[in-house]
Amino acid sequence: MAAPFVDTARITVKAGSGGNGAVAFHREKYVAAGGPDGGDGGRGGSVILQINEHMSTLMDFRYKRKYVAGNGMDGQGKRCSGKDGEDLIIKVPRGTVVRDAETNEIICDMSETDSFVLARGGNGGWGNKHFATPTRQVPRFAKAGLPGQERQVILELKLLADVGLVGFPNVGKSTLLSVVSKARPKIANYHFTTLFPNLGVVYVEEGVSFVLADIPGIIEGAAEGAGLGHDFLRHIDRCRLLIHVVDVSGSEGRDPVADFEAIQEELKQYGPDLASRPMIVAGNKVDIAADRSGLEALKAHVEALGMPFYEISAASQQGTRELMFAAARQLEHLPPITVYEPTYVERPPEVDTSEPLSIVHEDDTWIVEGPWLQRLMANVNFGDYESRNWFDKMLRQSGLFDRLEEMGIQDGDIVSLYNLEFEYQR
Ligand code: GDP
Ligand code: MG
Repeated sequence: MAAPFVDTARITVKAGSGGNGAVAFHREKYVAAGGPDGGDGGRGGSVILQINEHMSTLMDFRYKRKYVAGNGMDGQGKRCSGKDGEDLIIKVPRGTVVRDAETNEIICDMSETDSFVLARGGNGGWGNKHFATPTRQVPRFAKAGLPGQERQVILELKLLADVGLVGFPNVGKSTLLSVVSKARPKIANYHFTTLFPNLGVVYVEEGVSFVLADIPGIIEGAAEGAGLGHDFLRHIDRCRLLIHVVDVSGSEGRDPVADFEAIQEELKQYGPDLASRPMIVAGNKVDIAADRSGLEALKAHVEALGMPFYEISAASQQGTRELMFAAARQLEHLPPITVYEPTYVERPPEVDTSEPLSIVHEDDTWIVEGPWLQRLMANVNFGDYESRNWFDKMLRQSGLFDRLEEMGIQDGDIVSLYNLEFEYQR
């Protein structure tokens, strides 16, 4: 049995930690004590998403759930910086939408951007060579590296197609795709033949083409979780136009109007947006229709709803060209394929600021360290005003400044927090 099509995955990504800075002093023969020359720690590697055009499923994510980039190396004496950690590249198919696993917010849509940094590597700590100033000639401290970002995300493949085929299984969707494009989907006379979505390019005439997607058939009750169904509707989420294929031959004893309405109901339950998507209805298998009653009933029904109706025989390619022309004409007036805008808002992690920080006083410098501060700083985007404000608030809340006052800090002294230093002002 073929492996099932995988179009969602939940993974954990972890960027590398920065290496620690080194405390070292220059040594030469006959020179008792030289200046500080401890190098910086290397930067942690980042986790980066990249589109791979040859991938069409998220199968690779089925068994491998955790992705970790390399750590930065520690700095060394003689001003040697530690080596940066290696980035980890994760390849995804085009059209992969990435969400935060906790909040479900969209982090990025891998449709137009070719690569995206999903988890930032931690900065390396500074070696003591950075801390030599006229008032601090023998800095015996260096900084620890910062941890890399870690997050859980959901990957969701949403195909990029202009037109999506919808309809019950066995009505001829795959056949239609195969006769209007070079795609070769599986065709068989039983329900649920299509387990993998298929994409085909339809060349209508010179300079006019579009991408057509055949997705697994929806079955009635899919909205309530019966079988395939809703899961697969995500693939037509982006489609600009739907072609609803209905078997009008009566060969399986089906009622075309009832079938049409059942599918419409499924679309509606998936989301109002999908139900109101522009739609063309194709009555298929007219070549084996015993009479035209089913076809005429459906035609009247959908035309009353204001939708264009075409009768076709996908198998004998009757009417299929006209149908593709009609689709191309409609597309001319429709907005482009949806690309999802990110909705994710970066929030620094919750930290327990009651855990005491270590404070070391050396010359005019106050070196502050501690696990929660380290974690916090790894996640604050200092380029962002809100983020910075929030960081400031957390520091104040923690009582750090009160403690520094008690310990005798003076205005103009340096407060040194990992990769951040500032002059203290009351
Ligand atoms: P899907 O499940 O909607 O993708 O349907 P398929 O394309 O796999 O077709 C199901 C069955 O219907 C296959 O046996 C096809 O050969 C047959 N079929 C599809 N279109 C036509 C048609 O226009 N006329 C006839 N007679 N059979 C068709
Ligand atoms: Mg099919």
